[in-house]
Amino acid sequence: MKERIYLSPPHMSGNELTYINKAFEENWISSVGPNLDRFEQQLNEHSGKYCAALSSGTAAIHLALIHIGVSRGDSVICSSFTFTASANPIVYLGAKPIFVDSEPSTWNMSPQYLEEAIVSEIRNGKKPKAIILVHLYGMPAQIDSIVEIAKRYEIHIVEDAAEALGSTYCSKNLGTFGDLGIYSFNGNKMITTSGGGALVAEDPETIEKVKFLSTQARDKAPHYQHSQLGYNYRMSNISAGIGVGQMEVLDKRVEQRRNVFNTYKLQLSNDLPILFLEEPEGCFSNRWLTTIWFDHKSIDIYKIMSKLENENIETRALWKPLHMQPLFDGNTYYGDQLSESLFKKGLCLPSGSNLQEEDLHRIISNMRKFL
Ligand SMILES: *Cc1c(COP(=O)(O)O)cnc(C)c1O
Repeated sequence: MKERIYLSPPHMSGNELTYINKAFEENWISSVGPNLDRFEQQLNEHSGKYCAALSSGTAAIHLALIHIGVSRGDSVICSSFTFTASANPIVYLGAKPIFVDSEPSTWNMSPQYLEEAIVSEIRNGKKPKAIILVHLYGMPAQIDSIVEIAKRYEIHIVEDAAEALGSTYCSKNLGTFGDLGIYSFNGNKMITTSGGGALVAEDPETIEKVKFLSTQARDKAPHYQHSQLGYNYRMSNISAGIGVGQMEVLDKRVEQRRNVFNTYKLQLSNDLPILFLEEPEGCFSNRWLTTIWFDHKSIDIYKIMSKLENENIETRALWKPLHMQPLFDGNTYYGDQLSESLFKKGLCLPSGSNLQEEDLHRIISNMRKFL
């Protein structure tokens, strides 16, 4: 059997172990320590804002919604075309997700349907408390329009940039446009801490509050005293050691993933019914995953996936829209089903920054054979 080609495997720089060893030598096997400080400093420098390192991207969304004040009975607007982790924290808080579909130029939240959702929800007597705006697969959403709408109706934006670390819009990093932003360092993302996330905010006070909530909300007292409900969501100093080594190569990883995308596009788009999502003006995508869309009625993506699987090549269907998920059966949805057609005919190709030239060749020649 040929060696397996994974969809998006971890890619170490080689320096990570140095930072982990240092943590062992100094016995910072803890949720405090120098790696954690250094990693947050790197994130601050990268984003130009203030960041808190947390145990996951999902935890970061949860704390972002708590900070905004989302509680039982509220409603929160969320992109429908995304991974379930974008919306789950809404449900943790007893609030109700309202889903908004995509627009065709970026596959992200449609400003038109967003406004329709807000107007209609207000008319029904309840203004949504927040908007979770996702930059799917690293592609920036139509940020200007969405920020303008959110400002006009005075609704907070949480930017889910879990897949979009290193992407920019008008040369500004994604995750820094909303009231709050989040990143994920799960094993399959742009960079990894084996599992982790971060919350991004404009001011250091918000970050102090988030760190407080992520360490069980302990009051200043000589004993363990708590006046607020806290969480155990802090990143560990060991994980942060991986993060420090990974941040050193983030720019390189973006370049490598973009090269993977360009190679696929060059070799699969000319004579085959395959469409690649272009970057609209001002958008710079990290191309976390190369996604393709088959412009042909008779193509069955599951057949192609299984043929590639037989060659030990891992691929994945696009995210199943949340308004189609059994978990969210009955939730309100605004849109024209664009994400449903994307989901039916789309595919994610192996996109690791450590893909070798011969791996790419193997994937491309098999794709050409099966089509
Ligand atoms: C990965 C991901 C998350 C969640 O991040 P975790 O670190 O896995 O909790 C949230 N939103 C999107 C769009 C993601 O891809």
